[in-house]
Amino acid sequence: MQNDFFTYQAQTTQFAAGFEVEKAEGSYIYGTDGRKYLDFVAGVSANTLGHSHPRIVEAIKTQAEKYLHVMVYGEYAQEMPVKLCRLLAEATPDPLEVTYLVNSGAEAIDGSLKLAKRYTGREEIVSFKNSYHGNTHGALSVSGNEYHKREFRPLLPLITFIGFNEEKDLQRITEKTACVILETIQGAAGFLMPEHDYLKRLKKRCEEVGALLILDEIQPGFGRTGKLFAFEHFGIVPDILVMGKGMGGGVPVGAFMSSRKIMETLSHSPKLGHITTFGGNPLIAAASHATLKEVLDSSLMDEIEEKEKLFRELLVHPKIKNINGKGLMLAVNLGTPEYTLNVAKRCMEKGLIVFWQLYRNEYMRISPPLTLSKAEIREGCAIILNVLNGE
Ligand code: PLP
Repeated sequence: MQNDFFTYQAQTTQFAAGFEVEKAEGSYIYGTDGRKYLDFVAGVSANTLGHSHPRIVEAIKTQAEKYLHVMVYGEYAQEMPVKLCRLLAEATPDPLEVTYLVNSGAEAIDGSLKLAKRYTGREEIVSFKNSYHGNTHGALSVSGNEYHKREFRPLLPLITFIGFNEEKDLQRITEKTACVILETIQGAAGFLMPEHDYLKRLKKRCEEVGALLILDEIQPGFGRTGKLFAFEHFGIVPDILVMGKGMGGGVPVGAFMSSRKIMETLSHSPKLGHITTFGGNPLIAAASHATLKEVLDSSLMDEIEEKEKLFRELLVHPKIKNINGKGLMLAVNLGTPEYTLNVAKRCMEKGLIVFWQLYRNEYMRISPPLTLSKAEIREGCAIILNVLNGE
C-alpha cells in the first residue's frame, strides 16, 4: 500500500510518513505492522471523541439507512442538519443563533469573509501576523505566513496584517474595515494565547468603528479548552464564529454562525450568496450532532483542566523550554525544529504519535482526543520523557 500511496496519491511534502493504518479505536491507531500507537494528535485536533466513537458510528449508520445526499445546501429541511443548527444555537450565547453548514474549515472561513463584506458593504479586512486560516485562496489570503503564500499570488487585496496581542495595532482597524479575523488561540504559531483582556479591547475597537469580529475556533472549538468555544474564557462573543475540525468528530465539516440579522444578508442581493452542494450533508450532520451531544452531555469538558494539569506536571524536563496553550491543545517547545522532528520519530518508534506546529516546528503538538484517559496521558508522557532522556 505504501508504494501506491507514494506513486498515485498526490503528495503534500517530500517527506510524508506514509504510516499504514489498519484500524483506529478510542485513543489508539493500529498499524498494518500489527502494532498499536497512542494518538496524541487526534488527526490534528479533529477526533474530539477519539477514534470511531460508538455514538458517532451509530448516528452515521442510522442516517445512512434513511438517506444520504438528497439536495444542495439550503433547499430541503433535513432532520440532522436542522437538529445540529438548533443545538448550536442553544449551546452558544446571543447573538449567535444561525449556522451555515459547509464542508471544511477553509470554506467556512471564506464564507465568513464574504458574509462580513456583504453585511458591512466594506472591502477591507484586518488579519494577524502568523495566523493560519486554511488553504483556499480566500483563507490563504488572510493567513499571516509569507512562505506559504508567496508562490500563489495574486491573492485577495486590501488585507492588513497586525500583531497578535499588539495593543497599538488596534488603531489600524478603521471605519473602512469590514471585519477583523483571528484565531482565538493562534494554532500554527504554537498555540499562542491572547493576553489578559486583549480580546475585550479588540472587540471594543471593532464596535467603535463598526467592523465585525470573526473568531476562528476551528481548533479550540468543541470543548478542547474546557469550554465549548475558547472565546467563553475571555468574556466576549464574536459577531461571526467559525468552526470545523473537531466539530465532525472524524468527518469533514465546517460552519460559520452569526445573528439572524447578519446571516440573512447572504440570502439576497445576490440570492444564493454562498452556494455549496454538500454543506449540511445529512451523514456529516449526524456525526457532528452526535459529537456535540456527547461533548455537552458528558463530563468531558469538566475534566479538561485536570488533564492539562497532569500533562504539565508530567512534562517537566531540561529539554522542555516551555509549554504553550490551554486545555488539550498544548505546544511543547523542544528548542529546534530538527530536534523536535527527531523526538516525534523516536516517539513513533515507541508507539506514540506526536506532531509539530506548522509555522513553529520547534514546538511539539499535543492535541489528543478529549476522551484520553489519565492512564493514557501517563503512558504517553512516559514515552516522551524516555525519548528526551535519549533512551
Ligand atoms: N483555521 C484553523 C485555525 C485551522 O487550524 C485550520 C486547519 O488546520 C483551518 C482553519 C482550515 O481548516 P480545513 O483544513 O478544514 O480547511
